[in-house]
Amino acid sequence: MNEIVLGDVSITRVMEYFGSVELSPSTFFPDSSDDAWRRNEDWLAPDFWDPAADVCVSAIQTWLLRSAGRTILVDTGVGNHKQRPHAKVWDHLDTDFLGNLSRAGVSPEDVDLVINTHLHNDHVGWNTYLDDGSWVPTFPNATYLMPRRDFEYWDPDNGHVPRRGRGNENVFEDSVAPVRDAGLVELWDDGFDIDGALRLEPTPGHTPGSSIVALESGTDRALFVGDMLHTPLQFLEPEVNSCFCVDPDSRGRRAVASSAGPPTPTRWCSPPIWAATVARNCAATEKGSPSRSGRRSPG
Ligand SMILES: [Zn+2]
Repeated sequence: MNEIVLGDVSITRVMEYFGSVELSPSTFFPDSSDDAWRRNEDWLAPDFWDPAADVCVSAIQTWLLRSAGRTILVDTGVGNHKQRPHAKVWDHLDTDFLGNLSRAGVSPEDVDLVINTHLHNDHVGWNTYLDDGSWVPTFPNATYLMPRRDFEYWDPDNGHVPRRGRGNENVFEDSVAPVRDAGLVELWDDGFDIDGALRLEPTPGHTPGSSIVALESGTDRALFVGDMLHTPLQFLEPEVNSCFCVDPDSRGRRAVASSAGPPTPTRWCSPPIWAATVARNCAATEKGSPSRSGRRSPG
């Protein structure tokens, strides 16, 4: 079980995917230099980069938080059976994510709150599942928190035209609109207090409404950074955007990088926890080691 406790909040990693994203560093991070990857190869490989295949390695996962008596999910991955014609790795994915969630002790009906840090395809997928040909909310008793700026940016009723790429094609229709139509969405603007330990903060860059979740409980602190960082190399070079950044503003990434300090094996843990920085000893996360190969969903 990938679980740690920070203050009064327990944190469990629920994996959906770990492996190649079929993008070379120069494609995924066009602003980065070959030299930067080579200089840092000794710690980027193999968890974040496969130099032999020249592909980036990534984890898609949900953070399960138990805080103030509620069950909370931070980001919901890619989802199953989603049609993603411009995101080949995620097209019609079929994993046992809900089985992994169940093995963490949570059924879909138990979830009180779903947080989508932003509305990219790999952060909203399990918002819905395919039921007899229709996309319906996976977590029927949850409130889904979404940043209003992203919601309005991708809402087709607002005449959305993608600024960069078409990887988010179909996403609003199959993963956002169904929960909106079910009356489960709450939009927020300039920060949102989830409870006494957790707060959503808008963070400039990546997408118009991209956000992070800040945890502060007792003496413990953590940031769930969404896509402010796609690779720990961005700790060293926070001005480097990914090819998925529709907003090139790097202020949010620079703020996260400076608050977390330089990456170390301890801070990033091993295997990579990828989407969070935990500012204390992370040894507990080493208990559950995900597989590096294929489209498996380790539990
Ligand atoms: Zn993103």
